[in-house]
Amino acid sequence: AKQEGRQGYRFFTPEMQAKATRNLLLLNALRHALTLEQLQLYYQPQVSMPDGRIIGAEALLRWRHPELGMISPAEFIPIAEDSGLILPIGEWVLRRAARQAKAWETEGLGVLTMAVNISAVQFRHPDLPDLVARVLEQEGLAPEFLELELTEGVAMLNPERAIDVINNLHARGVSMAIDDFGTGYSSLSYLKRFKVSKLKIDQSFVRDIDSDAEDRAIVRAVISLARSLGLKTIAEGVETIEQQTFLNQQGCEEMQGYLFSPPLPANQFAALLKRHPHA
Ligand code: C2E
Ligand code: CA
Ligand code: CA
Ligand code: CA
Repeated sequence: AKQEGRQGYRFFTPEMQAKATRNLLLLNALRHALTLEQLQLYYQPQVSMPDGRIIGAEALLRWRHPELGMISPAEFIPIAEDSGLILPIGEWVLRRAARQAKAWETEGLGVLTMAVNISAVQFRHPDLPDLVARVLEQEGLAPEFLELELTEGVAMLNPERAIDVINNLHARGVSMAIDDFGTGYSSLSYLKRFKVSKLKIDQSFVRDIDSDAEDRAIVRAVISLARSLGLKTIAEGVETIEQQTFLNQQGCEEMQGYLFSPPLPANQFAALLKRHPHA
């Protein structure tokens, strides 16, 4: 298969071969990552504007492998999805994040909204709404303090089903944000029927706000669309004062990004809460 064909193309390049080998290695290691306690959640503050208070956190998964080192979720989440491992891992994430939010509340560190990423496979699973309700109940966290982040692409894959699931979760008090907004193709009529509370402006539009007039136009349009639908907006990947200023001028309510803080381990996030105004 590695030989060049007569037309001069290859079915498998050495790079593809190397990637396939690494993926297999990662898959086998990922099967044991949970029981070996190699997974950890980091938390990135979500800040309300213009007052700058920390009002929430996004839980972001980290995998530290003893030999392979830190592996990016961008690399291992797709492997977890393809193999179905995302189901037990996703449940662990949900439980850990809920437990952490409850712990900070109990410690008097703040009543924060905990945002948890939900993958396509989890979203398709019929048990998701019951699972979420069960975990919240077991961890003692009120549903209004959980926010699920679903990418626009996943929501739009099967919008009629997405409406059912989102509305079911909404009825149980769990809120929903559309992640990576602007990268997919939302139809307005669907957006209106989703009971979501927030649009999360993708970082690809935030990155070049200073230099790219089209990105500025998209950001402006998303914020005004959200406003007319009664939704909040949060911008992700905010790294500079200039980006923050533009987003503030447009009326973006919440922000997240390195300008405020990178994702932090729980103890460092707690330390940040102790010295920074919060909800
Ligand atoms: P995402 O949900 O879009 O998360 C935002 C990513 O941007 C995170 O990368 C975060 O660390 C990074 N980020 C935050 N602030 C900045 C900034 O100012 N500049 C830049 N350039 N990046 C910033 P991370 O943690 O590597 O996660 C990558 C993706 O992996 C996430 O994208 C999400 O799709 C997925 N992921 C992470 N944790 C989970 C999880 O628990 N479950 C699922 N299903 N997916 C997860
Ligand atoms: Ca997210
Ligand atoms: Ca995102
Ligand atoms: Ca993303």
